[in-house]
Amino acid sequence: MSNFKVPLRDIEFALFEVLHFEEHFAEYCPSLDRSLTIALLEESARFCEQVLAPLSASGDIEGCRLVGGEVRTPAGFKAAYKQYCDAGWPSLARSVEYGGQGLLQSLGCVMNELTSTANYAWTMYNGLSQGAMHTIESHGSEAQKKTYLPALISGEWTGTMCLTEAHCGTDLGLLKTKAIPAGDGQYQLTGTKIFISSGDHDFADNIVHIVLARLPDAPAGTRGLSLFIVPKITINADGSLGDNNHVTCGGLEHKMGIHGNATCVLNFDGALGTLLGEPNKGLHLMFTFMNLARLGAGLQGLAHAELGFQKSVDYARQRLQGRSLSGAKNVSGVADPIIVHPDVRRMLMTQKALTEGMRMMAYFAAKRIDIVQHGQYEAQRQGAHDILSFITPIAKGFMAEAGFESANLALQCFGGHGYIREWGVEQNLRDCRIASLYEGTTGVQALDLLGRKILLSNGSLLGDFAQCIERFCKEAANTAELSPYVESLTRLHSEWLAITAKIGERALVNADEVGAASVDYLMYCGYIFLGYMWARAAKTAVLALATGTSEPDFYRAKIDTAQFYFERILPRTLSLAVTMNSGADNLMNIAEDHFSF
Ligand SMILES: Cc1cc2nc3c(=O)[nH]c(=O)nc-3n(C[C@H](O)[C@H](O)[C@H](O)COP(=O)(O)OP(=O)(O)OC[C@H]3O[C@@H](n4cnc5c(N)ncnc54)[C@H](O)[C@@H]3O)c2cc1C
Repeated sequence: MSNFKVPLRDIEFALFEVLHFEEHFAEYCPSLDRSLTIALLEESARFCEQVLAPLSASGDIEGCRLVGGEVRTPAGFKAAYKQYCDAGWPSLARSVEYGGQGLLQSLGCVMNELTSTANYAWTMYNGLSQGAMHTIESHGSEAQKKTYLPALISGEWTGTMCLTEAHCGTDLGLLKTKAIPAGDGQYQLTGTKIFISSGDHDFADNIVHIVLARLPDAPAGTRGLSLFIVPKITINADGSLGDNNHVTCGGLEHKMGIHGNATCVLNFDGALGTLLGEPNKGLHLMFTFMNLARLGAGLQGLAHAELGFQKSVDYARQRLQGRSLSGAKNVSGVADPIIVHPDVRRMLMTQKALTEGMRMMAYFAAKRIDIVQHGQYEAQRQGAHDILSFITPIAKGFMAEAGFESANLALQCFGGHGYIREWGVEQNLRDCRIASLYEGTTGVQALDLLGRKILLSNGSLLGDFAQCIERFCKEAANTAELSPYVESLTRLHSEWLAITAKIGERALVNADEVGAASVDYLMYCGYIFLGYMWARAAKTAVLALATGTSEPDFYRAKIDTAQFYFERILPRTLSLAVTMNSGADNLMNIAEDHFSF
């Protein structure tokens, strides 16, 4: 049985108290306010706790099946999807013009977090659809929007993202799928895509594939990629469904986790599609999809961290083993609950600090998506865009890695029982593992961050984000309770800029210096970002306690967790600074045959 509870109070704290979403909503979506948001969250929480969470373990055990060329999802998945669509959830953040509710993408991210924590494999079906809708909304022609958006927005149809082929994952320049003009403005696509999430299923009447392919005269490499919309079933001029469009599911991957989500081999055999945007600009346009999907993969880290944390705290309170080193705490019992042991507390507090910190990190990023989409002035939109493009690889890479660390600690709290299926923490760990692989591995996010976002912008994007931290430190400088946070962040702020400059200098002489430092650099940035979030949380809590609150324990717990983060997790930046500065030689001067065994 699932005991999952949506952490509503913490979500409210992060959104409204730390990140000031009330003012944000007033500026960018006046129809949304705090009480409406809370009502929507409570409604979604009921669905997540009562409908989705109970299907997570059964979906993992049953998995998806391929029957007569069509995918069958686990029992209960399809009915839950219908209930979700009937309640209008897929349309929440989509444009009113095509049937959406016109609310903000940030709210969509929070709702995505809720369903992801309850049942990640199920959530992926709608997650991919949201990316497809966003891509068509951003780059589609009027005719394409009219044809596809209403049915996607209502949830009647779903979407996918088709990039990967057997010989090309990270290196999309190697992609071979061909798109040949059919003479009527359409294109015939031929090729095989692998690992396509939600590529086929039984939820919807049609599936809208967003496909990267190559036109006949296209240049080699990524400059020759174009983007296409290819429906599973063709669509007649009057909008009704036509024939099968020669897109078939050639197989389902047998994988480590997320068993309830169908990961498909898709064969395109002359399937008809239309060009999305301009020819040979496909990869650029696909980033609209991928950036949203990257934040979604980051949210996945948060979701598994939250679920593991909830399960392990419950267990640590009940499991009786050993006695506290400082004297028995459960004197009438045979032993103390394991929550008395410092090492178990280390594991629980690490999960709590990472999970709640990542929640603030995710919402900080989501706020910038809203400003990019709805900002009134160009400068405002550009400013948010710059910060968002800097933090997207950090949010994706760091949250996926930290989410896995957290899910792993959750399992460790259970001892051997964690390794057994019954408690659900081994499923949580298996499901989480994919987050740092798809949507670009951590290594690829790190290269994007350090190579493209930092060095190519001459550090200006880092400067914009670092200013947020600088501003916070100035504002908090006179509050005695915040001085440990301000001192650490001030030191890290200047160390960060200095390390970046040093790597930049070394990279001018040897380009491998970027790749050698990049993953450590991404994690270093993530820890500072989280430190900034925890310092803001501490500031909010100090203020609430000073001005009077009916929840003193809640706010004291925030200050305790901020202190824990700064004393026990943020110091990881010290070792990362050393490893980053060690340079590329200890990796690249090793002869290849020294890797032999
Ligand atoms: C369950 C699942 C669902 C997926 N869903 C989708 C989907 O819906 N749509 C879709 O199109 N794809 C999907 N994928 C594919 C996924 O995005 C790719 O697996 C991923 O991008 C990595 O590509 P690859 O597996 O070919 O690894 P490779 O590219 O072969 O990488 C192998 C290793 O080499 C490293 N590496 C590669 N190139 C470089 C480089 N230039 N510099 C440094 N390191 C490098 C990588 O970081 C990695 O550690 C999915 C995959 C899985 C497993």
